[in-house]
Amino acid sequence: MTDFDRSRQLFDRAAGVVPGGVNSPVRAFGAVGGTPRFIASGRGPYLTDADGNTYVDLVCSWGPLILGHAHPAVVEAVRDAAGHGTSYGAPTPGEVELAEEIVARAPVEKVRLVNSGTEATMSAIRLARGYTGRTKIVKFAGCYHGHVDALLAAAGSGVATFGLPDTPGVTGATTADTLILPYNDVTAVEAAFDEHGPDIACVITEAVPCNMGVVPPLAGFNALLKRLCERHGALLVIDEVLTGFRASASGWFGIEGVAGDLVTFGKVMGGGLPAAAFGGRADIMDHLAPAGPVYQAGTLSGNPLATAAGLATLRNATAEVYAAIDRSAEIVGKAASEALEREGVPHVRQNAGSLFSVFFSDAPVGDFTAAQRQDTKAYAAFFHAALERGVYLPPSAYEVWFLSAAHDEEALGRVLDALPHAARAAAQASS
Ligand SMILES: *Cc1c(COP(=O)(O)O)cnc(C)c1O
Repeated sequence: MTDFDRSRQLFDRAAGVVPGGVNSPVRAFGAVGGTPRFIASGRGPYLTDADGNTYVDLVCSWGPLILGHAHPAVVEAVRDAAGHGTSYGAPTPGEVELAEEIVARAPVEKVRLVNSGTEATMSAIRLARGYTGRTKIVKFAGCYHGHVDALLAAAGSGVATFGLPDTPGVTGATTADTLILPYNDVTAVEAAFDEHGPDIACVITEAVPCNMGVVPPLAGFNALLKRLCERHGALLVIDEVLTGFRASASGWFGIEGVAGDLVTFGKVMGGGLPAAAFGGRADIMDHLAPAGPVYQAGTLSGNPLATAAGLATLRNATAEVYAAIDRSAEIVGKAASEALEREGVPHVRQNAGSLFSVFFSDAPVGDFTAAQRQDTKAYAAFFHAALERGVYLPPSAYEVWFLSAAHDEEALGRVLDALPHAARAAAQASS
């Protein structure tokens, strides 16, 4: 049993001054119970908490850290940038370089830099509406696009309905123009266009849904979205905030080859600092102020520290890095499946390239309804048994297990040693 008294004390103090003690809900361990670990430092594949326990990190800041923690090139770039001043509110050379790097890798002609994935999707939707002059947007149940009001909507099972807000504070008026469809459901998408085609500004979809666990698009699904959007004069917004520059050097696009009219980026492109972007065809992007009428702005957008971290990360994200992550994901995913298999725990491992998650469920998951049929109690037990053995898994059953190029034989060995114990705990919890 690891000691986590200091984390406990910090969590108590935090709860006094921060709602729920955390600055983003999933960090609170609400889905798995127990005390969240307060992290003092990270190095390579490891996290060290406030009590001095170390863990192999399979969260990697929820995706950004493909090079691992405190990669020397990233640290050096940020240190150097900070020495020259932290923000100017004026354009900088780094922004041009980062934008050029993104345009070189991804299917976009122009990009606008912002501070978070949430801002990227929010702005992309505003631009889609401004460009098309239409009101309605289509999103899929179980896809997460940040905490944008109009996108925080879900719907009853399996039917196409206009979204009801799924949190207090978002009004019905805000989500009334958001049409929610079940993921991977071609018939539902066709029906939505038949009924509302002339009013649909855009369809927004995760390149691969990764926020309900990994639910790969059926073969041809993204291409069909693209064709339907084209036919009806709507834009396709592909959210690559999570998959961008992680699934491959050019994101999920590099694997499937379907380009959105607009694409959103975040996570990896900020190298662990707050940076995100949205981009697309030049004629669409030029509708943004100051080139065009659609307003969008940011005091810290294109921040020099963030662009330095992002550039250093992308420049070091070589073919070898992607090959290493592909390999490690296969090793860890396979070992998890085998351990759970041995203990007779129902589970399904699903992957899209190196992105994978393990559903504690007995049937393949193709949409959000299926994703919710999970034994979350078994996952909680699995999670805590792994944590006790020094492996930090995502504290929720609905998340990708993230790897980095820093996950070497030693770190992977520690994960492989922990998995059988975790699987045993899951078996006990589920029986
Ligand atoms: C993380 C994520 C976002 C939101 O990004 P933030 O930087 O947390 O605002 C948007 N879309 C997807 C697909 C994500 O995974």
